Amino acid sequence: MFGKLEKYFAVLFSLVLRALGDDRREGLQNQTMFGGDMAGGLNVPQITDGDDGPVMAFLPSSDYILWPGGIMYYEYDASATRNDEVLSAAIQEIHAKTCLRIYPRNGKTSITSYVIITTTSDGCWSYVGMKVSGSQELNLSVAGCWYTGTVIHEFLHAFGFQHEHQRYDRDSTITVQENNVEASK
Ligand SMILES: [Zn+2]
Repeated sequence: MFGKLEKYFAVLFSLVLRALGDDRREGLQNQTMFGGDMAGGLNVPQITDGDDGPVMAFLPSSDYILWPGGIMYYEYDASATRNDEVLSAAIQEIHAKTCLRIYPRNGKTSITSYVIITTTSDGCWSYVGMKVSGSQELNLSVAGCWYTGTVIHEFLHAFGFQHEHQRYDRDSTITVQENNVEASK
């Protein structure tokens, strides 16, 4: 299911990032997280980067799997500042353009794996994939995160997507045209 969507989301991610202003970029740049916004996982030296040696890549830990049937449930944390308008727009776009589904948990105790939306920590970030047991935090700080594109971005991480350009197998599937890279980069 996910393989068919990878190209679409690679484009979507790049468009989202390109469209972001400075305040929106900051929310996605958490210093302690791989890629700035992916929590948990194992950071391993996988991607070789020529003269600079290996750089780190992100492997989700085995504690995180894909959501059965591509269906995710969420709740707001009791302390969260709700923004139903933006959340609804993000969910509608995911529903319209993918087979993934996001539904409110509505306190159903039979649903044991679900996302808790928090807004009190710094930055915008998520774990990658579904925690095998129990709830998992997805933080969307009141400052800089409540934009439709950013909310979509973090929910896609929770679904299991990484940044395509930071995948551990990146170097086996692309060739960097170094003559197109500016000298200072
Ligand atoms: Zn991200």
